[in-house]
Amino acid sequence: MNLFEYQGKELLRRFEVPVPEGRVARSPEEARDAARYLGGKVVVKAQVQVGARGKQGGVELVDSPDEAAAATERILDVEFMEQNAFALVQRRSRGAQLTPEDEERISKAAPIKATRVLVERAGDIADEYYCAFLVDRSNRAFLGMMSAQGGMDIEKVAEDDPSAIARVHIDPLLGISDFHARRLVFGARINPDAVKGAVAIIPKLYRAFVEMDASQIEINPLVLTGDGKVVALDAKVTLDDSAAFRHPIFDELKAAHEVPEQERLAKEKGLNFIKLEGNVGIIGNGAGLVMSTLDVVNAAGGEPANFLDVGGGASADILSAGLEVITSNPEVRSVFVNIFGGITRCDLVAEGILDALGRLEVKVPLVVRLDGTNAEQGRKMLADAPHPMLRTANTMLGAAELAVELSRAGI
Ligand code: GDP
Ligand code: MN
Repeated sequence: MNLFEYQGKELLRRFEVPVPEGRVARSPEEARDAARYLGGKVVVKAQVQVGARGKQGGVELVDSPDEAAAATERILDVEFMEQNAFALVQRRSRGAQLTPEDEERISKAAPIKATRVLVERAGDIADEYYCAFLVDRSNRAFLGMMSAQGGMDIEKVAEDDPSAIARVHIDPLLGISDFHARRLVFGARINPDAVKGAVAIIPKLYRAFVEMDASQIEINPLVLTGDGKVVALDAKVTLDDSAAFRHPIFDELKAAHEVPEQERLAKEKGLNFIKLEGNVGIIGNGAGLVMSTLDVVNAAGGEPANFLDVGGGASADILSAGLEVITSNPEVRSVFVNIFGGITRCDLVAEGILDALGRLEVKVPLVVRLDGTNAEQGRKMLADAPHPMLRTANTMLGAAELAVELSRAGI
């Protein structure tokens, strides 16, 4: 799991790594409040997992709360290029020849938008460095890296002048000592004024890396401020998902991701979808019916995982897209499909559901309630084509109760 910058910094703060004071904002108004609270000069940063947000228009330095609001409005509108595609573009701009597949990947990359910004108190920057810890599998060790050439594309530094990056292997069983930290700092030949602060930060970063089961922590830039402090200005933290069982906080961190990720997928597929916090997936036709469906699931003691209105066009394509988006949320334990046939004919909906079940591997039970035009026919079609995950119910409340019950059973 890749964390957003603000999440990475929250983790680092727990390990006493100095990071700027900041607040997350979801709108220009919230950013204005945050800037007012922080006072004076702030930096507004897109919270989005792409490379080089700075170069893509995702980082703005401003002087007042009103400017912070305006910057947020701009930043939330930026269409960022996804990390891998942007890395390819950068490689190309450094003169590398890309394969046709890579060129295609660039042209097909879906744009990503930020849904939040981080508003941080901005300080004077005297110098920028690079510092990272990662797992070096081939050497069965952790690898610490540091460079005096921070704030820029580290791959470029590695290509142009590999000696500008100091590397130190750390035996996981022995852990880190001051000796490692000093070797990194002196190896990177950073400004003497930053040496003390950097040597103090490195063991803290290492501890965060090990204790949080991270597979990577990258600070670019680590800065020396005008008043002589060493601070992590950016944070890219990747946590090892297989360690989730011993870190209850991983679920919480993940929850912040699924919202944009799932909604992005829904948007891509042209669905009228809103993520909610529960575990019963919902598909219905007509906004009013979907809202009643949410209510009836609540009344049955369950919690809806989403709002999804497939409108009049309950075709196989739309139902497949809807099921795919809903089941991409790992919280979802059952799905309630509630269709009232008016202009929409239930037999066509049944056909769509069966078609969708044939295309997708659905691992959670699907409770279908069909009523209205051609409902009998639709129900019969579903009954005649038994699927291990498919259940039907005749009433809305009955279907809701069954969906809730199945969401608890965890099958
Ligand atoms: P990235 O482009 O996604 O890596 O985003 P960063 O967080 O690294 O920010 C990009 C650049 O913006 C940094 O290298 C800094 O030069 C600049 N920047 C970020 N925060 C501040 C700040 O608080 N003050 C100043 N003066 N510059 C900042
Ligand atoms: Mn950075």
